[in-house]
Amino acid sequence: MKVCRFNENRIGIIKDNEVYDITPLFDRFGKPGWPYPAYDWIIGNFGEIRNEIDGFLPSVKALALADVTLRAPVANPGKIIGAPVNYKDHIDEANIDKQINHGKQYTSMDKLGLFIKAPTSLLGPDGVVQIPFADRRTDHEVELGVIIGKQCRRVSRDQALDYVFGYCIALDMTVRGPEFPGFRKSADTFGVIGPWITTADEIQDPNALDFSISVNGEVRQKSNTSYLIFNVQHLIEYASAMYTLMPGDVIMTGTPAGVSPVQPGDRMLSVIQGLGEMSIDIAN
Ligand code: MN
Repeated sequence: MKVCRFNENRIGIIKDNEVYDITPLFDRFGKPGWPYPAYDWIIGNFGEIRNEIDGFLPSVKALALADVTLRAPVANPGKIIGAPVNYKDHIDEANIDKQINHGKQYTSMDKLGLFIKAPTSLLGPDGVVQIPFADRRTDHEVELGVIIGKQCRRVSRDQALDYVFGYCIALDMTVRGPEFPGFRKSADTFGVIGPWITTADEIQDPNALDFSISVNGEVRQKSNTSYLIFNVQHLIEYASAMYTLMPGDVIMTGTPAGVSPVQPGDRMLSVIQGLGEMSIDIAN
């Protein structure tokens, strides 16, 4: 199943290039009141309505996918978790390039841990990436995005995929420099997810997906998630040892070699096998 958020906060199911609005299925839950829960309300309730979707679709007039505006498929991720050094070829390119490493040594996640991107960094397929400092290098990092479906804490690798709602394309936009990752990677518009969520049942093995990004038509990064050092299950185990994972939390799983600067006006086209493709522009 392909789940999207579109137009004015409508929730849709995408089938054969058409979008079916299933927002009314969520009416029964009532909108959450203050203090707001630290998770995404749609993803958190999705399990309750899931079995009703097939029966509901025939009553819906489908819209052409090309006629809707796709938004970030999670409206309110409680947190966006990043994996900093998860492909060997990226670690190698970073350690030989001062423009990337700025004097830091890229080692392993056992040593460096994870980082958090602010929820305010969220951007969807309808958005444009803003470069915060015109005189600083800003890079694309294309990554497999994992969307958590159920609250969990201290999950083992064996059980980890039970807590995954689905997968999407993620861009971990990054300013290069000496500051902490939580500063350089958390700018507004730097947490890109989309174009929709492909539910976990449709992805046989998240650790075997081809993916790439091209900028203005030139391929910059091209890899396969089989090269992840901490695979999806391992990342969930590692992250959930430190944080309670909540419905709608996003894990950006790390980036392979080929990170490179983007400039105002550039167009990035990202593709992940089974998850679609997404075009995102850099603001002028
Ligand atoms: Mn990254």
